[in-house]
Amino acid sequence: MSLRYHTVPVTAFQQNCSVVWCDETLEAAVIDPGGDLPRILQAVKERGLTLKQILLTHAHIDHAGGTSTLARELGLPIIGPQEADQFWITGLPQQSQMFGFPPAETFTPTRWLHDGDSVSVGHCTLQVRHCPGHTPGHVVFHAVEAKRCFVGDVLFAGGIGRTDFPQGDFDTLIASITRRLWPMGDDTVFIPGHGPESTFGAERRSNPFVGGT
Ligand SMILES: [Zn+2]
Repeated sequence: MSLRYHTVPVTAFQQNCSVVWCDETLEAAVIDPGGDLPRILQAVKERGLTLKQILLTHAHIDHAGGTSTLARELGLPIIGPQEADQFWITGLPQQSQMFGFPPAETFTPTRWLHDGDSVSVGHCTLQVRHCPGHTPGHVVFHAVEAKRCFVGDVLFAGGIGRTDFPQGDFDTLIASITRRLWPMGDDTVFIPGHGPESTFGAERRSNPFVGGT
């Protein structure tokens, strides 16, 4: 069996929501349902998948704005992020107003995630790494065998996440990237929260913020 995925850019921020699934059981998880839920659910339906859970990298509005509605409508558990993002979850209604998003409700995660945890999707496993810096409770999901990592707003092709939000920290973010992402291997493809995919090796070579580290 192996882990498959399909990425759907959602919201005005074109946030890369990913539907991930086990190709043996067709059980699926949605990572970061920021909004545009009908488009996400269409991607699930087209592939004959059964959506079992919501996974969150962090609680910014463009990543988490659709979580409460989706969880309630489909009866899904909410897994993640790490609990230091509680204040961002609490602030989702204000975030939605500030950025001109549809109203977003707060929620209580079914399970907080911690560094070293794992999450099952069908017969596949995602390893959880805590990667603070963009937000304090940011986590990433690493599919070891598939050599894929869903990194949210930690790292982009040619860029890194913003660190000018409350409890953001530049040095912490750089340490998350170099100590927790780079060891996953140069040939690992990452799916960032915005923009195109890249590999850790390509970013180690040429990323202006973390190249040469
Ligand atoms: Zn973010």
